[in-house]
Amino acid sequence: MSQLRKSKVLIPAKRSESPQKGKKSQKALKSSDKRPKESSQKYTIFNEKIFEQHEHFKKFIKKDPKVNTRFVCIACKDSGKGSFSGYYDDLATHIGSENHTESLQDEEEKNEITDVILAYHKFRSRRNKKNYKVLQGTMREMRLDFTAFLWKNELPFTLAPGLVDFVKQAVEKYSPDALNLLTLSNVYANQIAREVISPFLKESIFKDLEQNYFALSFDESSDKFSPSYLCTHVRYIKNEELHNKLLSLNEISESASGEYLYKMLFQEIFVGDKKEYLAKNLVGVCTDRGANMLSLKDKGLANRLKADYKHIITAHDFCHYFNLISKSCLDHFPQDVLNFLSDICSYFFV
Ligand SMILES: [Zn+2]
Repeated sequence: MSQLRKSKVLIPAKRSESPQKGKKSQKALKSSDKRPKESSQKYTIFNEKIFEQHEHFKKFIKKDPKVNTRFVCIACKDSGKGSFSGYYDDLATHIGSENHTESLQDEEEKNEITDVILAYHKFRSRRNKKNYKVLQGTMREMRLDFTAFLWKNELPFTLAPGLVDFVKQAVEKYSPDALNLLTLSNVYANQIAREVISPFLKESIFKDLEQNYFALSFDESSDKFSPSYLCTHVRYIKNEELHNKLLSLNEISESASGEYLYKMLFQEIFVGDKKEYLAKNLVGVCTDRGANMLSLKDKGLANRLKADYKHIITAHDFCHYFNLISKSCLDHFPQDVLNFLSDICSYFFV
């Protein structure tokens, strides 16, 4: 965190071109229509030489024809964003905003944003080159820190933009003193996820299920060190988009019979007022071919659901099909090839 605060301090003053006094409202960025009539002299006049600093400015930004201290962002305007204009002093903030990134179609244009912001600061701080150099160095250091964090924690690099946004939002939302005081153990994070976030997410999924057709898939899993669990996934289409979500993970404390799993499911999902809607929207159930799931004797979980809700379709999960096919195929594979593959795997998973 100290690194972040340091970087905040090092950003060059925005008004080095023509320092002027006056309070600037954050609303300047948020509203595209409300232009204060009398206060425009408090802001720096739009300098058209900015277009020579980076192609990005030339392509997406133009000077507001009505107020000489303001800009209009063509990308944000064309994509229907509310905040498509602002003061020239706030141009870098606009370029770095989520709205602006979302308005860009091209991945390369999104990736060049940091360079565009640096070009803006370099241009505005040209009388203070030392300040710009420090900012450039800090950028490099911050990128290195963020990349190292992802690397050390074995997190995917695709998380990088989201992580940067999250840290920016946290720094903006909380005071440095509060952030310094913050502690969060893995036990406490686990408890928050389980007791606060998980019920909230679950409730939002249930709301979707009350309004959309859905299918359930179940699977039981365990390893030699822990108890068995029944995992329930739900699939549904909302706003023409397919959603595939984990709905619940229940510990199986007694026998894993079809009857027991069926009772557990009713306690977990088909309860209370929502039972009627859920039963109406449930279209299918997908499971493995275990006797407690989809049994020939109609005693499995899927069989029991089918008996209650005659309209649903029960299906043997294709993943399990393919698993069975693969297992059967392996019996006919040459043993030396299997040994070779096994050796490779054990090299990586010691
Ligand atoms: Zn924009």
